[in-house]
Amino acid sequence: MTEIRTAAVIGLGLIGGSLARDLAARGVRVLGWDRDARTLRAAVDAGIVDELRAGELPDLAVVAVPVLAVPDVLRRFLPALAAARLVTDAGSTKRTGIAAAEALGIGGRFVGSHPLAGDHRSGWDASRSGLFAGAHVYLSPTSTSSDEARGIVRWLWEAVGARTEWMDAGAHDRLLAWTSHLPQAVSSALAIALARAEVPREALGPGGRDVTRLAGSSPEMWAHVAADNADHLAAALRMAESELRELRLRVEEGDPGRLREWFALARGGGAA
Ligand code: NAD
Repeated sequence: MTEIRTAAVIGLGLIGGSLARDLAARGVRVLGWDRDARTLRAAVDAGIVDELRAGELPDLAVVAVPVLAVPDVLRRFLPALAAARLVTDAGSTKRTGIAAAEALGIGGRFVGSHPLAGDHRSGWDASRSGLFAGAHVYLSPTSTSSDEARGIVRWLWEAVGARTEWMDAGAHDRLLAWTSHLPQAVSSALAIALARAEVPREALGPGGRDVTRLAGSSPEMWAHVAADNADHLAAALRMAESELRELRLRVEEGDPGRLREWFALARGGGAA
């Protein structure tokens, strides 16, 4: 693979900022951009990125903005992507970015990425080097992703210490609705229920703190993910609602045997 000398990172928050730090530390020149001028200034002042300006032609580009903004960003930065041998995004859902890349005619150079790494904090100030060390990254190709783009995207994530797994975008979005988006929804719903019941956070024990930790995540990021993956997330939420309803009915019934049966089902992984 020919050497990657310059990488564009568009969106310098938790994910983009952390990737920019790791790439810069490996000697890659990082050209950064963010719609928030203070974020861009902070990344430039930290010596991590040079501002991505018209005429710069990076070897690869990573779009790390909230998922519904990915199509607009790809369209807007198309001229800067002219020489990029890989264009990828870091979004928590994969179908939208891929559809946009294909519609813009860059499907051959595009591969979607989703690093399972993060924090409940967001923005440049939360970014740090080493965020992706040991992380799992899903890679979703378009129908025409080139061998070169596939090779570079693997190089990119392995260079920052992650391991990669290929998964079709549709399968990814279906799986993540259950493994990531539903847990976030349950955590947020619990936090809201506690607040409505006027139970202070400080009153929570370790279990309650664990389950509500995700509720502190970025509302903007999660609004984009939930809207973008509405079909799969709605199905997962319906299942969770039905189990909560079942539990409520058994609680109202007050039969310890029937309650034990329900909790045993949960402990056994839900298999009847
Ligand atoms: P973040 O809020 O920390 O950063 C997003 C950055 O994008 C901000 O600096 C914001 O100013 C910038 N931005 C927003 N809209 C933009 C636009 N139109 N043009 C340019 N810049 C724009 O969010 P994050 O956690 O870094 O998430 C970035 C992407 O990574 C999202 O798609 C998210 O779904 C995905 N992701 C997040 C996590 C996580 O745990 N936070 C994990 C994996 C993937």
